[in-house]
Amino acid sequence: MTTRLLALLMLLHPAPQTAPAAPAAPEHATIAVATIADRARGLTRQDGFLPYYWDARKGQFLLEISRFGEEFLYGAGLAGGAGLLEASLDRGQSGALGVCRFERSGPRVLLVQLQTTQMSGADDPERARAVAESFPISVRASMPVEAEEGGRVLVDATAFLLADSQVLPILRASRVGDWKQDVARSAIHFDRTGAFPRNTEIEAVQTFVCDNPPPAVAAVLPDGHTMSLRAHHSFWKMPEPGFRTRIFDPRVGIISVRRVDHAARFTEPIEKYLTTRWRLQKKDPSAAVSEPVQPIVYYLDRAIPEPERTAIRQAALWWNHAFEEAGFRNAFVLKDLPEGATFLDARYSGIEWINRAERAWSVGDIQVDPRTGEILHGVARIDSHRRRTTARMWRNLQPPERGRACLAGDAPDLAFLAAGDPDAGEEKLVLERLAYLSAHEVGHTLGLEHNWAATTFGWGSVMDYLAPHIEERNGALDLSDAYPRDIGSYDRLAIAWAYTAEEDPARLDAIIRAAYAKGIVYPLESDPRWAEYDWGPDPVRWLATTQAVRRVILDHFGAGQLQRGEWVSSLQERFNLAYLYHRFGIQAAQQFVGGQFQTGAVAGDGQTPVAWVPAAKQKEALDLLLAALEPENLDIPDRILAALVPEPSGTAPTRERFASDAGPAFDRLTAARTLAALIVDPLLDSERAARLSLASGPDALTLDAALGRLVQSTWGARADGSERLAGLRRVAQRETLDAMMDLAARAETAPEVRAVVFARLERLRSELRARTPADPAAAAHVRQAVRDLSDFLEKPETRKPRARRIEAPPGRPIG
Ligand SMILES: [Zn+2]
Repeated sequence: MTTRLLALLMLLHPAPQTAPAAPAAPEHATIAVATIADRARGLTRQDGFLPYYWDARKGQFLLEISRFGEEFLYGAGLAGGAGLLEASLDRGQSGALGVCRFERSGPRVLLVQLQTTQMSGADDPERARAVAESFPISVRASMPVEAEEGGRVLVDATAFLLADSQVLPILRASRVGDWKQDVARSAIHFDRTGAFPRNTEIEAVQTFVCDNPPPAVAAVLPDGHTMSLRAHHSFWKMPEPGFRTRIFDPRVGIISVRRVDHAARFTEPIEKYLTTRWRLQKKDPSAAVSEPVQPIVYYLDRAIPEPERTAIRQAALWWNHAFEEAGFRNAFVLKDLPEGATFLDARYSGIEWINRAERAWSVGDIQVDPRTGEILHGVARIDSHRRRTTARMWRNLQPPERGRACLAGDAPDLAFLAAGDPDAGEEKLVLERLAYLSAHEVGHTLGLEHNWAATTFGWGSVMDYLAPHIEERNGALDLSDAYPRDIGSYDRLAIAWAYTAEEDPARLDAIIRAAYAKGIVYPLESDPRWAEYDWGPDPVRWLATTQAVRRVILDHFGAGQLQRGEWVSSLQERFNLAYLYHRFGIQAAQQFVGGQFQTGAVAGDGQTPVAWVPAAKQKEALDLLLAALEPENLDIPDRILAALVPEPSGTAPTRERFASDAGPAFDRLTAARTLAALIVDPLLDSERAARLSLASGPDALTLDAALGRLVQSTWGARADGSERLAGLRRVAQRETLDAMMDLAARAETAPEVRAVVFARLERLRSELRARTPADPAAAAHVRQAVRDLSDFLEKPETRKPRARRIEAPPGRPIG
């Protein structure tokens, strides 16, 4: 496909290819420009893929262009990040690569990005032209010609290099004030600018100003309103021909490139998905396992501190275990990044360290040849804050007065934690989590997508979102198998399938079948097994497991876990990790209610394309969710409440803290409301309700039956033992009522669903009308519910879903 395409594009633009030394073309003849020798007198030529000169006197960056019409890759990225959670502008963030070429147009040279999704794929130039002319191209730059000589021209690229193409759209989409670029305060940044044989890299400081940045944004700007970022331009030589494309298979999660092939016969799909992978060829093609001709070489950021550095390095190398099985020895090589080098330079792929002040994501980025799917460059960016989230979680797990000798006696599996330095256990857990994160992000840069169903077959994949696997045993916590210590069976399958030298479709299919026969699965993202931060063969049972662990965590939680001198307010920073410890168990169970198993089935592979979750499993999930909604499970002990004090005056607030209807006082009812909403709202999602209304059969969990159970366990529950529990019950009742009214009011709710919900609401109103509780708070609560129900049922204009008033503290990323 590759070489045929190149030939085609040459056919379309033959003149510059065959006659590069034709400076006196008629349309340029009248333009009086200097020779390059004259213009560049006294300037130093930087030789490389795209040579350049810097004219310091005039402040002009001059590119020397000779190969008109020849294709190359161009992309823009960010070398310096904005340090913001609100807008995704990170250090080392790279944009997609586009296939480009330079075209001469009178006194200017255009940088033209070609169409790579719409492919003609045909040898016939007329058919190819018809495809090319049916879709647009993008002119990325128009640069004035400064000098010309012997087929080469010098263009002034300064304006193009200084102009922003990526930051303003992101700031605009993030709604963080009215930003504009100040070009006068933008300049070329020479530390990271250079021309090399295969690439030319140019960096520019671009300055953006805003009169009204939100406080969180203003806080990271030295002067409060000016943001100067470094943009990075990369011009890369096209990769050598010879890369073998591999057609995507829906049973293995490899990142794919979509192409529309207009030469495909009408009996074949017009869309083709190519898998992304590195070019890996055996040195000895006859050997079962061989060294590669060229290994995949990664570099480790010099900024990563120890002991994190060692953990990150070792886990990245786990991938060699998979490459061995794919037939390659030492396929993945990890070196230290040379001093002063940047991962934006095409020559350096690797693992980069991103400093963050708050909880945020790590990412694995790849840059691919859009024509073939060949990965040309990959950077795994590990966020520095993950260690802190893990450490907070670890602190929550500890019994009060940590390091006590009785720990080992109570739970043998915790012995390693109690032995010697009490911090050793914490560090071990934090480093294991970081190691897995390293393997995960590097996995993305090898072309792998997520597989969130992989914990259903053990530590099946580091490409899952992994929660620590912690179980409660006899009142203690077992952390002995908290994190994986290698890549999983699915990871080995994905690498074996994507990288094997085997090309025969039947043999590739056999690799997948053999793995699936051992219980490996890669279902669709909409399958309920696709559950993040869960563990075990049954994601529904994970809710029960996390409930049990949560009870132990809440028993331990409190000032007793603090060391002498620590601020007690720090407890509020990690209380959400304790109180909402089961939130991903809740999410996993919700997915099974009205859930449908869905596979990327291929005809003849024996997989069941779709199957509803059995009714008994759906009911089990619902029962566990309703149990989580019981007042005892919404409650917070007074012992903990007595220690939840906000941050000291004059210090910055944390977003880890629960919102409170009671202002600075921690409000246990607001916290309960937050938790109740996490349980009930997703259950009453419009699409889930529509799926439940499709259920049939004598034992089916219908929408009406599910609503009946929800109403029964909240409004129909027997009187609670104490006023405190009764108050929490009212929180669950109110949340149920509001969520049902929201479901009925939403525009996207199906008419069948709306009818069932209205019938349930009417029934609830008549039951509540008959109630006259003696307790004044309970009576007021019931009267309010009847009033709201009557308004909702009788006045259509009041039927609007609630606006989200209080957000739960962040849940992801965690683990
Ligand atoms: Zn990921």
